[in-house]
Amino acid sequence: MGITRRQLLGWMAAGAGAGAGGLVPTSVRAAANMHFAGFPQSKGVLHDITLCIGCRKCEAACNTVNELPAPETPFDNLDVLKLDRQLSPETYTVVNRFYPTDPRKPQFVKKQCNHCLEPACASACFVKALRKQKTGAVTYDESLCVGCRYCMIACPFNVPAYEYHKALTPRVMKCTMCHPRIEKGLQPGCVEACPKEALTFGHRDELIRAARQRIERHPERYINHIYGETEMGGTSWLYLAGHPFGTLGMREDLGVVSAPEFTSGALAIVPMIVSVGVMLLTGIYAINQRREKIADEERRDAVDQTREEFEALMQQKLSEQKKAAEKAKDAAIKREVEKALAEAAKPEADQPAGEENGKEE
Ligand code: SF4
Ligand code: SF4
Ligand code: SF4
Repeated sequence: MGITRRQLLGWMAAGAGAGAGGLVPTSVRAAANMHFAGFPQSKGVLHDITLCIGCRKCEAACNTVNELPAPETPFDNLDVLKLDRQLSPETYTVVNRFYPTDPRKPQFVKKQCNHCLEPACASACFVKALRKQKTGAVTYDESLCVGCRYCMIACPFNVPAYEYHKALTPRVMKCTMCHPRIEKGLQPGCVEACPKEALTFGHRDELIRAARQRIERHPERYINHIYGETEMGGTSWLYLAGHPFGTLGMREDLGVVSAPEFTSGALAIVPMIVSVGVMLLTGIYAINQRREKIADEERRDAVDQTREEFEALMQQKLSEQKKAAEKAKDAAIKREVEKALAEAAKPEADQPAGEENGKEE
């Protein structure tokens, strides 16, 4: 199976962190190049889309357990289901509504981090701020994060969200599968809150067995596909549905090979001399070339084209981030200056007695 340019761009940053070899300490580089083997006893969640009623109780529970800000639209308002909502720094999970065939039969799909077995985001993170844990959760350590946002580009599911509005201490935000709760022997908040058992928490292997049984017992209800069993090398979050996943807003073009598997091979055969983007492109392309034996001329054209796209993408992202940070900073400075001017303009008579000493009488 070949890879598309879109996949290439998405995965490029998975190796970009490792590709920055000359810029980071050896130990950090080693971490970046590590190939995740997956953990046999790891946990996961099975989302049975055929059981989901779109009640948003999982969203509410996620908001509570993660102490996130209250949403603009309260959780008991189901009007938002008609929107194509995306994840954000304040929203680790959303439920969206789809009508795959019959306009009278809506299907509800919960979206959050899929906790890939071999996460592209973690592979892209050269300081190991994102890590695959033995529990199955992919966690984030903000104290290590340098804000490079490679993880955002690397994730094929468009999951990590960045706190652009925070000028000083922005973080990458996403679902952690409620890792602290799992470590205490609890279920993830969303699973516990689901009134329809549309979410099941357990060992990933057992969830796959259970999912297969459901398909075998009810072939009229389910399509014969467990989403996440093999997508991108497998994910800890698994899905069952009665309709093709492409009709439910889920990507079906990802293939079964994990992003790090591509990039680790690439790094072994590419001289560590060129820039991050060029290195990864060349490396990934070398693998593709081996697989598809495409002509040299095509290769050069494709590398050039993809490199241009990558550079444009990175420039655009950096410039957006810079603008957002500058805007927030300017607004804060303006507010402070206006406040100071207003204070200075107050007639002395208006000043409360004792203010000179900073005290009230
Ligand atoms: S879904 Fe995205 S953010 Fe979540 S583990 Fe996979 S690559 Fe990382
Ligand atoms: S596992 Fe936890 S963090 Fe993830 S969506 Fe569910 S409640 Fe939110
Ligand atoms: S709580 Fe359960 S039924 Fe309700 S929207 Fe979430 S997954 Fe679906």
